[in-house]
Amino acid sequence: MSREKLANIIFPEITTTIADLEERYPHRSLKDGAEVTRFAPSPTGFLHTGSLFAALVSRTVAHRSGGVFFVRLEDTDTKREIAGAGENLLNEMKIFKVYPDEGYLGDSELGDYGPYKQSERALIYKTVIKQMIKDDLAYPCFCTTDDLALLRATQEASKVVSGYYGHYATCSKLSADEAIAKIEAGVPYVIRFRSKGNHENRVTFDDEVKGTIEIAENDQHIVILKSDGLPTYHFAHVCDDHFMRTTLVSRGEEWISSVPLHLEMFAAVKFNQPRYAHLPTIDKLDDGNKRKLSKRRDPEAAVTYFLELGYPVDSVLTYLMSIANSNFEEWWAENREKPLSEFPFSISKMSVVGALFDIEKVNFFAREYIASLTAKEVVDEYLAYALYNKNEKLVKRIKDNYDLFVQILNIEREGEKPRKDYHNYSMVYPSIKFFFSDEFAAMHEDFDIGEFKESLSKDTLIGLLESFKTELTYGEGNSVWFDSLKKVAEKHGFAINNKAYRTNPELYNGNVADCAEVLRLAIVLSKKSLNLYEVLSILGPKEVEKRLTAMQNKLK
Ligand code: GLU
Ligand code: ZN
Repeated sequence: MSREKLANIIFPEITTTIADLEERYPHRSLKDGAEVTRFAPSPTGFLHTGSLFAALVSRTVAHRSGGVFFVRLEDTDTKREIAGAGENLLNEMKIFKVYPDEGYLGDSELGDYGPYKQSERALIYKTVIKQMIKDDLAYPCFCTTDDLALLRATQEASKVVSGYYGHYATCSKLSADEAIAKIEAGVPYVIRFRSKGNHENRVTFDDEVKGTIEIAENDQHIVILKSDGLPTYHFAHVCDDHFMRTTLVSRGEEWISSVPLHLEMFAAVKFNQPRYAHLPTIDKLDDGNKRKLSKRRDPEAAVTYFLELGYPVDSVLTYLMSIANSNFEEWWAENREKPLSEFPFSISKMSVVGALFDIEKVNFFAREYIASLTAKEVVDEYLAYALYNKNEKLVKRIKDNYDLFVQILNIEREGEKPRKDYHNYSMVYPSIKFFFSDEFAAMHEDFDIGEFKESLSKDTLIGLLESFKTELTYGEGNSVWFDSLKKVAEKHGFAINNKAYRTNPELYNGNVADCAEVLRLAIVLSKKSLNLYEVLSILGPKEVEKRLTAMQNKLK
């Protein structure tokens, strides 16, 4: 009777029962085998690359089985919360196409199992805890911070496991009446779970990724409701994944050690336990040691890194899939044009240990991906990149010159061997800005004529540039143009026969390639460029002539 009274004193406002909640949140009617998975971020920062990986895996598992993937915002740690972080996370999930089917969506919610923000679920937690107090599964703890510090010091001194458990859990020994007296006297408290475990025992459970795991039983009387009326992670997990009808809890492997506690709580409140899949981390080598990608030390730990540099979202997802399932790449090689969702992903084929983050691999998938696009698609993604980064100058440039960008990005794109020179969109502008006269003017200022082959005299160069103005043939294709270039080369003392050149180099100014280099340097201001004929054709005869004259003037 006094337990009942204690429960009512602590939660006078709670009149709902667990049975009410069971009815309010019925089992989902999904086909057999359909998985309900979730992503449960805390609004404490940007989306972590490892979290994107976890969300992608969870979503893939749900969708491949005809189930549901939802997002729950775990915002019970008000001290660590960052304003706007929840909205940001969802926005980033949207950009990376791992958007939930249900749940917290940033500025709204969707679904019948809400609220999806833990801070709005107090009624649910309190309803369950009220019953737990009645059943002696939970109790108020009046220990102060000082009491707990003293406990820790005592345990450290006597070298026993630290924490609130066994006979150290002093408040667990209070009778309901004693507790009521303290509450009535106004002593502050939290609510703890009454564990019946013993850390000398072992429990085993089957993890969908890691297999059978054996681990010490829980005996900690953890806090389940804080003095601010909000639950702790562990307890919220039990209530939420129960009433949201999660079937497979896929989450980071750092939670493995908490499973015994979670299982004990599920059993205590008689909720069916979900299955667990603890996902490997994404690691990094640091001085030869493997460690988890770190928000503080590794820029690529935040998904914004990829967006800022303009990595195509699809290529990042492809990369993450390749570390999720070892048989992915083989599939991808055969099915490049298919959506990733068609890959027969299997959680049991996930690697047990963390994958090493490999930017070269990301670059590879990105190059392949960009190479698979049409020029127009590239320009559209490029514009999206500029917009994401709020690069107004670039946005304007692309919008004002849209067709030109398509032409430029189409160079060496169609055909057997499409260009693979970009792995992110931040690489584009530096390589093509010479097309624009304002950029060209500035680059021209800085151009050092020492770039030309030393053996070529200024007069030779000036004469050659003059011939380029009038003696090259445009409009009839690359090979006709190249023949005209050869003629110019020959006229100016360059060898058009490589063998002849190699036998007597001293007789020539160079070979045809050296001749073309002069043209390239004058027009592109660099020794490297994509197909020169295409570049010249896009610039057009007038602009080409202007540039040739400008170089002649610089040489004078
Ligand atoms: N809020 C927890 C975290 O961000 C979620 C863990 C889970 O998925 O259960 O680590
Ligand atoms: Zn206590």
